[in-house]
Amino acid sequence: MQIELAESLRDTRTGKEASEILGKCVHCGFCTATCPTYQLLGDELDGPRGRIYLIKWVLEKNECSERTRFHLDRCLTCRSCESTCPSGVRYGRLLEIGRDLVEQAAPRKRGEKIIRWVIRRFLGGPLFAPFLAIGHLVRPALPARLARQVPRRRSAGERPVARHARRMLVLEGCVQPAIGPNINAAAARVLDRAGISLVSSPNAACCGALSLHMTAVGEARQSIRRNIDAWWPLFESGVEGIVMTASGCGVTVREYGQLLADDPEYADKAQKISAATRDLSEIVDQSHPGVVEGAEAIQVAFHSPCTLQHGQQIRGKVESTLERAGFPLVEVADSHLCCGAAGTYSMLQPDISGKLLGNRLRSLQRANPDVIVTANIGCQVHLESRSEVPVLHWIELMDNPGTVRKTHR
Ligand code: SF4
Ligand code: SF4
Repeated sequence: MQIELAESLRDTRTGKEASEILGKCVHCGFCTATCPTYQLLGDELDGPRGRIYLIKWVLEKNECSERTRFHLDRCLTCRSCESTCPSGVRYGRLLEIGRDLVEQAAPRKRGEKIIRWVIRRFLGGPLFAPFLAIGHLVRPALPARLARQVPRRRSAGERPVARHARRMLVLEGCVQPAIGPNINAAAARVLDRAGISLVSSPNAACCGALSLHMTAVGEARQSIRRNIDAWWPLFESGVEGIVMTASGCGVTVREYGQLLADDPEYADKAQKISAATRDLSEIVDQSHPGVVEGAEAIQVAFHSPCTLQHGQQIRGKVESTLERAGFPLVEVADSHLCCGAAGTYSMLQPDISGKLLGNRLRSLQRANPDVIVTANIGCQVHLESRSEVPVLHWIELMDNPGTVRKTHR
Protein backbone atom coordinates (compact mmCIF):
# COMPACT_ATOMS: atom_id res chain seq x y z
CA MET A 1 0.00 0.00 0.00
CA GLN A 2 1.47 3.37 -1.08
CA ILE A 3 1.12 6.34 1.26
CA GLU A 4 1.74 10.08 0.86
CA LEU A 5 2.16 11.37 4.40
CA ALA A 6 0.73 14.76 5.36
CA GLU A 7 3.46 17.36 5.62
CA SER A 8 3.21 17.58 9.40
CA LEU A 9 4.06 13.86 9.66
CA ARG A 10 6.84 13.65 7.10
CA ASP A 11 10.25 13.14 8.69
CA THR A 12 8.69 12.18 12.04
CA ARG A 13 9.36 8.83 13.71
CA THR A 14 5.60 8.22 13.95
CA GLY A 15 5.07 8.97 10.27
CA LYS A 16 7.89 6.67 9.22
CA GLU A 17 6.70 3.86 11.46
CA ALA A 18 3.12 4.16 10.16
CA SER A 19 4.35 4.19 6.53
CA GLU A 20 6.42 1.10 7.12
CA ILE A 21 3.46 -0.75 8.66
CA LEU A 22 1.06 0.34 5.90
CA GLY A 23 3.59 -0.55 3.21
CA LYS A 24 3.20 -4.22 4.10
CA CYS A 25 -0.58 -4.33 3.63
CA VAL A 26 -1.62 -5.86 0.30
CA HIS A 27 -5.40 -5.30 0.81
CA CYS A 28 -6.06 -9.05 0.68
CA GLY A 29 -8.73 -8.93 3.40
CA PHE A 30 -7.78 -12.28 5.02
CA CYS A 31 -7.78 -10.45 8.36
CA THR A 32 -11.44 -9.49 7.95
CA ALA A 33 -12.52 -13.13 8.25
CA THR A 34 -11.22 -13.44 11.82
CA CYS A 35 -12.22 -10.00 13.11
CA PRO A 36 -14.88 -10.26 15.84
CA THR A 37 -16.39 -6.82 15.17
CA TYR A 38 -16.63 -7.44 11.42
CA GLN A 39 -18.26 -10.83 12.07
CA LEU A 40 -20.80 -9.16 14.36
CA LEU A 41 -21.47 -5.90 12.51
CA GLY A 42 -20.79 -6.86 8.87
CA ASP A 43 -19.43 -3.40 7.97
CA GLU A 44 -16.06 -3.17 6.17
CA LEU A 45 -15.22 -0.12 8.31
CA ASP A 46 -15.65 -2.30 11.41
CA GLY A 47 -12.99 -4.70 10.18
CA PRO A 48 -9.20 -4.33 10.07
CA ARG A 49 -8.88 -3.54 6.37
CA GLY A 50 -11.49 -0.78 6.57
CA ARG A 51 -9.90 0.67 9.67
CA ILE A 52 -6.51 0.60 7.98
CA TYR A 53 -7.97 2.72 5.16
CA LEU A 54 -9.44 5.15 7.70
CA ILE A 55 -6.05 5.52 9.40
CA LYS A 56 -4.33 5.93 6.02
CA TRP A 57 -6.67 8.81 5.23
CA VAL A 58 -5.81 10.52 8.54
CA LEU A 59 -2.09 10.05 7.93
CA GLU A 60 -2.35 11.55 4.46
CA LYS A 61 -4.81 14.39 5.04
CA ASN A 62 -4.31 14.98 8.76
CA GLU A 63 -8.07 15.33 9.08
CA CYS A 64 -10.90 13.06 10.12
CA SER A 65 -14.49 13.03 11.25
CA GLU A 66 -16.50 11.72 14.18
CA ARG A 67 -17.26 8.73 11.95
CA THR A 68 -13.57 7.83 11.76
CA ARG A 69 -13.34 7.81 15.52
CA PHE A 70 -16.61 5.89 15.82
CA HIS A 71 -15.19 2.97 13.83
CA LEU A 72 -11.77 3.07 15.49
CA ASP A 73 -13.45 3.13 18.92
CA ARG A 74 -15.35 -0.04 18.02
CA CYS A 75 -12.08 -1.94 17.50
CA LEU A 76 -11.36 -4.27 20.43
CA THR A 77 -7.58 -4.10 19.93
CA CYS A 78 -7.77 -7.90 20.14
CA ARG A 79 -5.18 -8.20 17.33
CA SER A 80 -6.75 -11.37 15.97
CA CYS A 81 -6.16 -9.70 12.58
CA GLU A 82 -2.40 -9.68 13.25
CA SER A 83 -2.40 -13.42 13.83
CA THR A 84 -4.19 -13.94 10.51
CA CYS A 85 -2.32 -11.45 8.35
CA PRO A 86 0.08 -13.23 5.96
CA SER A 87 2.10 -10.01 5.41
CA GLY A 88 2.97 -9.32 9.05
CA VAL A 89 1.08 -6.00 9.28
CA ARG A 90 1.42 -4.67 12.85
CA TYR A 91 -2.17 -3.51 13.06
CA GLY A 92 -2.14 -2.93 16.85
CA ARG A 93 0.68 -0.40 16.62
CA LEU A 94 -0.91 1.27 13.59
CA LEU A 95 -4.18 1.62 15.51
CA GLU A 96 -2.34 3.20 18.43
CA ILE A 97 -0.82 5.79 16.07
CA GLY A 98 -4.14 6.34 14.28
CA ARG A 99 -6.16 6.76 17.46
CA ASP A 100 -3.69 9.28 18.83
CA LEU A 101 -3.88 11.37 15.63
CA VAL A 102 -7.67 11.16 15.56
CA GLU A 103 -7.86 12.25 19.18
CA GLN A 104 -5.95 15.41 18.27
CA ALA A 105 -7.63 16.10 14.91
CA ALA A 106 -11.20 15.54 16.14
CA PRO A 107 -11.28 16.07 19.92
CA ARG A 108 -14.04 14.33 21.84
CA LYS A 109 -16.94 16.18 23.41
CA ARG A 110 -16.37 17.35 26.96
CA GLY A 111 -18.80 14.82 28.52
CA GLU A 112 -17.08 11.91 26.81
CA LYS A 113 -13.68 13.13 27.93
CA ILE A 114 -14.88 13.36 31.53
CA ILE A 115 -16.30 9.81 31.47
CA ARG A 116 -13.02 8.43 30.15
CA TRP A 117 -11.03 10.40 32.73
CA VAL A 118 -13.25 9.12 35.56
CA ILE A 119 -12.88 5.49 34.40
CA ARG A 120 -9.10 5.83 34.36
CA ARG A 121 -8.93 7.47 37.76
CA PHE A 122 -11.39 5.04 39.31
CA LEU A 123 -9.95 1.76 38.03
CA GLY A 124 -6.34 2.82 38.45
CA GLY A 125 -6.78 4.71 41.73
CA PRO A 126 -7.11 4.17 45.47
CA LEU A 127 -10.94 4.36 45.49
CA PHE A 128 -11.41 1.11 43.59
CA ALA A 129 -10.67 -1.33 46.45
CA PRO A 130 -12.97 0.37 49.04
CA PHE A 131 -15.70 0.69 46.42
CA LEU A 132 -15.43 -3.01 45.64
CA ALA A 133 -15.55 -3.82 49.37
CA ILE A 134 -18.85 -1.90 49.61
CA GLY A 135 -20.06 -3.81 46.53
CA HIS A 136 -19.31 -7.10 48.33
CA LEU A 137 -21.29 -5.94 51.37
CA VAL A 138 -24.41 -4.93 49.44
CA ARG A 139 -24.19 -7.70 46.86
CA PRO A 140 -26.59 -10.08 48.67
CA ALA A 141 -29.28 -7.37 48.62
CA LEU A 142 -28.88 -6.55 44.93
CA PRO A 143 -31.10 -7.95 42.15
CA ALA A 144 -29.41 -10.98 40.55
CA ARG A 145 -28.57 -9.16 37.31
CA LEU A 146 -26.80 -6.35 39.16
CA ALA A 147 -25.17 -8.67 41.69
CA ARG A 148 -23.45 -10.52 38.84
CA GLN A 149 -21.64 -7.33 37.88
CA VAL A 150 -19.88 -7.29 41.26
CA PRO A 151 -16.92 -9.70 41.16
CA ARG A 152 -17.04 -12.42 43.82
CA ARG A 153 -15.10 -11.84 47.04
CA ARG A 154 -11.91 -13.87 47.01
CA SER A 155 -9.25 -14.52 49.61
CA ALA A 156 -5.58 -14.85 48.80
CA GLY A 157 -4.17 -17.45 51.17
CA GLU A 158 -0.57 -17.36 52.36
CA ARG A 159 2.31 -16.15 50.22
CA PRO A 160 5.58 -17.97 50.82
CA VAL A 161 8.53 -15.91 52.06
CA ALA A 162 11.17 -15.23 49.42
CA ARG A 163 13.74 -17.93 50.24
CA HIS A 164 15.24 -19.00 46.92
CA ALA A 165 18.33 -17.71 45.14
CA ARG A 166 16.28 -17.56 41.95
CA ARG A 167 14.02 -14.52 42.19
CA MET A 168 11.60 -12.94 39.75
CA LEU A 169 9.68 -9.69 39.91
CA VAL A 170 5.91 -9.77 39.76
CA LEU A 171 3.60 -6.83 39.03
CA GLU A 172 0.73 -6.54 41.51
CA GLY A 173 -1.19 -4.28 39.10
CA CYS A 174 -4.12 -1.90 39.64
CA VAL A 175 -7.41 -3.85 39.83
CA GLN A 176 -6.05 -7.38 40.28
CA PRO A 177 -5.06 -7.08 43.98
CA ALA A 178 -8.67 -6.12 44.84
CA ILE A 179 -10.56 -8.46 42.48
CA GLY A 180 -8.23 -11.44 42.30
CA PRO A 181 -5.83 -11.34 45.28
CA ASN A 182 -5.32 -15.10 45.05
CA ILE A 183 -3.76 -14.97 41.59
CA ASN A 184 -0.34 -13.64 42.53
CA ALA A 185 -0.43 -15.60 45.80
CA ALA A 186 -1.12 -18.82 43.87
CA ALA A 187 1.63 -17.95 41.36
CA ALA A 188 4.05 -17.38 44.25
CA ARG A 189 3.17 -20.78 45.78
CA VAL A 190 3.48 -22.70 42.49
CA LEU A 191 6.79 -21.04 41.64
CA ASP A 192 8.08 -21.48 45.20
CA ARG A 193 7.63 -25.24 44.74
CA ALA A 194 9.71 -24.91 41.56
CA GLY A 195 12.52 -23.10 43.37
CA ILE A 196 11.68 -19.53 42.28
CA SER A 197 10.70 -16.75 44.71
CA LEU A 198 8.46 -13.92 43.58
CA VAL A 199 9.18 -10.41 44.81
CA SER A 200 7.33 -7.18 44.06
CA SER A 201 7.88 -3.47 44.42
CA PRO A 202 5.29 -1.47 46.41
CA ASN A 203 6.00 1.54 44.20
CA ALA A 204 4.96 -0.16 40.94
CA ALA A 205 1.29 0.14 39.97
CA CYS A 206 -0.82 0.10 36.79
CA CYS A 207 1.26 -1.03 33.80
CA GLY A 208 -0.15 1.82 31.70
CA ALA A 209 -2.60 -0.28 29.66
CA LEU A 210 -5.59 1.46 31.21
CA SER A 211 -4.47 4.83 29.84
CA LEU A 212 -3.34 3.34 26.53
CA HIS A 213 -6.78 1.78 25.99
CA MET A 214 -8.26 5.25 26.17
CA THR A 215 -5.57 6.95 24.06
CA ALA A 216 -4.13 8.87 27.01
CA VAL A 217 -0.62 8.17 25.75
CA GLY A 218 1.17 10.80 27.85
CA GLU A 219 -0.46 9.43 30.99
CA ALA A 220 0.53 5.86 30.03
CA ARG A 221 4.16 6.96 29.61
CA GLN A 222 4.11 8.45 33.12
CA SER A 223 2.91 5.11 34.53
CA ILE A 224 5.65 3.32 32.62
CA ARG A 225 8.41 5.61 33.91
CA ARG A 226 7.12 5.18 37.48
CA ASN A 227 7.22 1.38 37.12
CA ILE A 228 10.70 1.43 35.64
CA ASP A 229 11.91 3.57 38.56
CA ALA A 230 10.28 1.13 40.98
CA TRP A 231 11.74 -1.98 39.33
CA TRP A 232 15.19 -0.83 38.40
CA PRO A 233 16.89 -1.23 41.83
CA LEU A 234 15.51 -4.80 42.06
CA PHE A 235 16.62 -5.43 38.53
CA GLU A 236 20.15 -4.41 39.37
CA SER A 237 20.09 -6.53 42.50
CA GLY A 238 19.84 -9.69 40.38
CA VAL A 239 16.20 -10.65 39.77
CA GLU A 240 15.99 -12.91 36.71
CA GLY A 241 13.17 -11.06 35.04
CA ILE A 242 9.57 -9.95 35.35
CA VAL A 243 6.75 -12.46 35.40
CA MET A 244 3.32 -11.22 34.38
CA THR A 245 0.25 -12.94 35.79
CA ALA A 246 -2.19 -10.85 33.71
CA SER A 247 -1.61 -11.15 29.97
CA GLY A 248 -3.20 -7.72 29.41
CA CYS A 249 -0.41 -6.16 31.48
CA GLY A 250 2.20 -8.48 29.97
CA VAL A 251 1.53 -7.32 26.42
CA THR A 252 1.93 -3.70 27.53
CA VAL A 253 5.14 -4.22 29.53
CA ARG A 254 6.59 -6.06 26.54
CA GLU A 255 6.01 -2.84 24.59
CA TYR A 256 7.66 -0.48 27.10
CA GLY A 257 10.75 -0.30 24.88
CA GLN A 258 8.68 0.81 21.90
CA LEU A 259 6.58 3.24 23.94
CA LEU A 260 9.61 5.02 25.41
CA ALA A 261 11.85 4.75 22.34
CA ASP A 262 12.03 8.57 22.08
CA ASP A 263 12.80 9.13 25.75
CA PRO A 264 16.58 9.64 26.11
CA GLU A 265 16.50 8.97 29.85
CA TYR A 266 14.36 5.83 29.84
CA ALA A 267 14.67 4.24 26.37
CA ASP A 268 17.48 1.85 27.29
CA LYS A 269 15.97 0.74 30.60
CA ALA A 270 12.56 0.30 28.95
CA GLN A 271 14.09 -1.97 26.28
CA LYS A 272 15.77 -4.10 28.94
CA ILE A 273 12.57 -4.37 31.01
CA SER A 274 10.59 -5.43 27.93
CA ALA A 275 13.19 -8.02 26.96
CA ALA A 276 13.14 -9.52 30.48
CA THR A 277 9.34 -9.82 30.65
CA ARG A 278 7.68 -13.25 30.49
CA ASP A 279 4.15 -14.50 30.81
CA LEU A 280 3.57 -16.77 33.80
CA SER A 281 2.78 -19.68 31.47
CA GLU A 282 6.28 -19.49 29.97
CA ILE A 283 7.92 -19.72 33.40
CA VAL A 284 5.68 -22.48 34.78
CA ASP A 285 6.04 -24.45 31.55
CA GLN A 286 9.85 -24.35 31.89
CA SER A 287 9.69 -25.37 35.56
CA HIS A 288 8.03 -28.73 34.67
CA PRO A 289 5.52 -29.00 37.52
CA GLY A 290 4.35 -32.53 38.21
CA VAL A 291 0.89 -34.05 38.29
CA VAL A 292 -1.57 -32.17 40.52
CA GLU A 293 -3.53 -34.39 42.90
CA GLY A 294 -7.24 -34.46 42.09
CA ALA A 295 -6.75 -32.84 38.68
CA GLU A 296 -8.21 -35.77 36.71
CA ALA A 297 -11.69 -35.14 38.20
CA ILE A 298 -11.97 -31.57 36.89
CA GLN A 299 -13.00 -30.85 33.31
CA VAL A 300 -11.47 -27.57 32.23
CA ALA A 301 -12.35 -25.11 29.45
CA PHE A 302 -9.54 -22.68 28.70
CA HIS A 303 -10.23 -19.19 27.39
CA SER A 304 -7.03 -17.83 25.89
CA PRO A 305 -7.02 -14.02 26.21
CA CYS A 306 -6.34 -12.06 23.02
CA THR A 307 -3.45 -10.37 24.80
CA LEU A 308 -1.85 -13.80 25.25
CA GLN A 309 -2.52 -15.54 21.93
CA HIS A 310 -2.52 -12.53 19.56
CA GLY A 311 -0.77 -9.73 21.46
CA GLN A 312 2.11 -11.88 22.75
CA GLN A 313 1.74 -14.74 20.26
CA ILE A 314 1.89 -17.29 23.07
CA ARG A 315 -0.22 -20.33 22.28
CA GLY A 316 -0.54 -23.78 23.80
CA LYS A 317 1.60 -23.22 26.91
CA VAL A 318 -1.24 -22.98 29.45
CA GLU A 319 -3.03 -25.88 27.80
CA SER A 320 0.03 -28.16 27.80
CA THR A 321 0.88 -27.24 31.41
CA LEU A 322 -2.66 -28.08 32.56
CA GLU A 323 -2.69 -31.32 30.60
CA ARG A 324 0.66 -32.44 32.00
CA ALA A 325 -0.70 -31.69 35.47
CA GLY A 326 -3.55 -34.12 34.74
CA PHE A 327 -6.48 -31.77 34.01
CA PRO A 328 -8.71 -32.96 31.14
CA LEU A 329 -9.29 -30.05 28.71
CA VAL A 330 -12.56 -29.83 26.81
CA GLU A 331 -12.74 -28.66 23.17
CA VAL A 332 -13.62 -24.99 22.75
CA ALA A 333 -14.78 -23.74 19.35
CA ASP A 334 -13.63 -20.40 17.90
CA SER A 335 -10.88 -20.13 20.48
CA HIS A 336 -9.28 -17.24 18.56
CA LEU A 337 -12.22 -14.92 19.33
CA CYS A 338 -12.36 -12.16 21.94
CA CYS A 339 -14.72 -12.42 24.95
CA GLY A 340 -15.53 -8.70 24.69
CA ALA A 341 -13.72 -7.60 27.85
CA ALA A 342 -10.85 -5.87 26.02
CA GLY A 343 -9.71 -3.58 28.82
CA THR A 344 -12.33 -0.86 29.24
CA TYR A 345 -14.22 -1.88 26.08
CA SER A 346 -16.94 -3.64 28.09
CA MET A 347 -17.75 -0.29 29.75
CA LEU A 348 -17.45 1.88 26.67
CA GLN A 349 -19.10 -0.47 24.12
CA PRO A 350 -21.47 -2.57 26.25
CA ASP A 351 -23.70 -3.80 23.39
CA ILE A 352 -20.95 -5.27 21.23
CA SER A 353 -19.10 -6.50 24.30
CA GLY A 354 -22.25 -8.24 25.63
CA LYS A 355 -22.85 -10.05 22.33
CA LEU A 356 -19.26 -11.25 22.15
CA LEU A 357 -19.50 -12.45 25.75
CA GLY A 358 -22.65 -14.46 25.00
CA ASN A 359 -21.00 -16.12 21.98
CA ARG A 360 -17.83 -16.89 23.89
CA LEU A 361 -19.62 -18.41 26.88
CA ARG A 362 -21.71 -20.60 24.59
CA SER A 363 -18.51 -22.06 23.13
CA LEU A 364 -16.78 -22.40 26.48
CA GLN A 365 -19.73 -24.08 28.23
CA ARG A 366 -20.83 -26.34 25.36
CA ALA A 367 -19.02 -29.42 26.74
CA ASN A 368 -20.21 -28.82 30.33
CA PRO A 369 -16.84 -28.13 31.95
CA ASP A 370 -16.51 -27.88 35.73
CA VAL A 371 -14.53 -24.68 35.44
CA ILE A 372 -13.43 -22.06 32.92
CA VAL A 373 -9.88 -20.82 33.34
CA THR A 374 -8.15 -17.90 31.71
CA ALA A 375 -4.95 -15.86 32.03
CA ASN A 376 -6.11 -12.27 32.43
CA ILE A 377 -8.11 -10.64 35.21
CA GLY A 378 -10.21 -8.55 32.79
CA CYS A 379 -11.40 -11.63 30.88
CA GLN A 380 -11.95 -13.50 34.14
CA VAL A 381 -14.30 -10.88 35.59
CA HIS A 382 -16.12 -10.38 32.30
CA LEU A 383 -16.71 -14.12 31.78
CA GLU A 384 -17.72 -14.58 35.40
CA SER A 385 -20.43 -11.94 35.11
CA ARG A 386 -22.57 -14.39 33.09
CA SER A 387 -20.96 -17.79 33.43
CA GLU A 388 -22.82 -20.78 34.84
CA VAL A 389 -19.59 -22.36 36.08
CA PRO A 390 -16.73 -20.89 38.16
CA VAL A 391 -14.13 -18.82 36.33
CA LEU A 392 -10.58 -18.82 37.68
CA HIS A 393 -7.06 -17.91 36.69
CA TRP A 394 -5.38 -21.13 35.50
CA ILE A 395 -2.63 -20.78 38.13
CA GLU A 396 -5.24 -21.03 40.91
CA LEU A 397 -6.18 -24.44 39.55
CA MET A 398 -2.53 -25.53 39.36
CA ASP A 399 -2.05 -24.36 42.95
CA ASN A 400 -5.12 -26.01 44.39
CA PRO A 401 -7.87 -27.76 42.39
CA GLY A 402 -10.08 -27.43 45.48
CA THR A 403 -10.54 -23.75 44.54
CA VAL A 404 -13.20 -24.91 42.11
CA ARG A 405 -16.60 -24.97 43.68
CA LYS A 406 -19.06 -27.18 41.85
CA THR A 407 -21.92 -24.85 42.64
CA HIS A 408 -21.57 -21.27 41.57
CA ARG A 409 -23.58 -18.34 42.89
S1 SF4 B 1 -7.92 -5.71 16.58
FE1 SF4 B 1 -9.60 -7.20 16.65
S2 SF4 B 1 -11.48 -5.95 16.48
FE2 SF4 B 1 -9.76 -4.64 15.85
S3 SF4 B 1 -9.66 -4.86 13.64
FE3 SF4 B 1 -8.23 -6.39 14.48
S4 SF4 B 1 -9.46 -8.27 14.67
FE4 SF4 B 1 -10.90 -6.56 14.40
S1 SF4 C 1 -4.54 -9.61 6.02
FE1 SF4 C 1 -2.80 -8.18 6.29
S2 SF4 C 1 -2.22 -7.63 4.20
FE2 SF4 C 1 -4.28 -8.51 4.07
S3 SF4 C 1 -5.68 -6.73 4.23
FE3 SF4 C 1 -5.39 -7.55 6.30
S4 SF4 C 1 -3.72 -6.34 7.14
FE4 SF4 C 1 -3.65 -6.04 4.91
